[in-house]
Amino acid sequence: MPTCEFMCLNGEIVPYRDAKIHAFSAVVKYGLGVFEGLRAYWNTGRQELYVFRLAEHIDRLRFGMKVMRYDRIFEPDYLEDCLIRMLRANEIRENAHIRMIAYVDGDDELIVTGPVGLVIGVMKLPPRKTLETGVKVTVSSWQRIADDALPPRVKCTANYVNNRAAELAAKLDGYDGVLMLTRDGKLSEASGACVFLVRNGRLVTPDVSSDILESITRATVIETVRSALGLEVEERRVDRTELYAADEVFWCGSGQEVVPLVAVDRMPVADGEPGPITRRVQDHYFKLVRGDITDHPEWRTAVWHRN
Ligand code: PMP
Repeated sequence: MPTCEFMCLNGEIVPYRDAKIHAFSAVVKYGLGVFEGLRAYWNTGRQELYVFRLAEHIDRLRFGMKVMRYDRIFEPDYLEDCLIRMLRANEIRENAHIRMIAYVDGDDELIVTGPVGLVIGVMKLPPRKTLETGVKVTVSSWQRIADDALPPRVKCTANYVNNRAAELAAKLDGYDGVLMLTRDGKLSEASGACVFLVRNGRLVTPDVSSDILESITRATVIETVRSALGLEVEERRVDRTELYAADEVFWCGSGQEVVPLVAVDRMPVADGEPGPITRRVQDHYFKLVRGDITDHPEWRTAVWHRN
């Protein structure tokens, strides 16, 4: 996978090959990393790159550092400055995906809390075909991790062993992706996205107690659907078989954006084509992230024209 020329490591801009940590650091030994995946969108008319909902990603990263009891929690201004400098060093003037990881770097025992490191990188990323075609998914036999064991609300690197097991099994079985259920059998989320169903003109999505990541895109979609599309959204427990009954299904996430699900467990969703409400959500989302819709200017952090 192509990554960037420069990374930001502990505040310094360094060549990609020099962004190294020790092989015995706690993040390697115990999975002590919290991370964010963000996107930046290029607006050609304005010759500007916008990072979408940076403040919310920074808040979530800091929340993760707190719950993981890191002995240092980076200030929001520091995190923003590191990220912007890294994007500028790489001369990013196209759509891109950014990853930022705050990790415990010390070589010590399990309860080690520092020193805390920070690494940020970027990958140029054109739109994927699945936005148009949709994906065919299955419901995994791997159960979603639970809040009282390995909380999905904390975007911790170790959690992703669960997501990876589910996604890998689904792909080996010939699916494009996977949905997971909670331990009481309700719909939770996908391996890297939250899920929405359309039933009788209303949107339905698993509530935040369904062992999901409190997704920033999910919040964006809920707000869009209510205010711009004028439709209702229910946040509640969702049964597996509602997936089979739905008129439309899509998933969303910063990395995934808004992707139609056209089949679940080899059953087509409605007629097996991306549905009209999904298309409207996609359309609005892409206008919003690029700044073609000017609502919520605070959601777009400009990279090139800054004070
Ligand atoms: N759920 C999981 C498990 C994820 O990894 C992601 C991607 N961060 C999401 C949902 C979507 O979250 P967000 O919209 O904040 O990117």
